[in-house]
Amino acid sequence: MATPSKLRQCPECGSDNVKYLEKEDKLYCNDCGEIFAALTPKKEKKFEKVSRS
Ligand SMILES: [Zn+2]
Repeated sequence: MATPSKLRQCPECGSDNVKYLEKEDKLYCNDCGEIFAALTPKKEKKFEKVSRS
């Protein structure tokens, strides 16, 4: 399982007071209230495909 533990930081304000919303696969920042995509799945998938083929 790819747990985005690395990404438990708000890209907006840099706070690590961030909650991972599993249902939505997103991050919620408790400090600034922003919601962010946890990962960039397209890029990851692309990268996987490239390295496999
Ligand atoms: Zn924030």
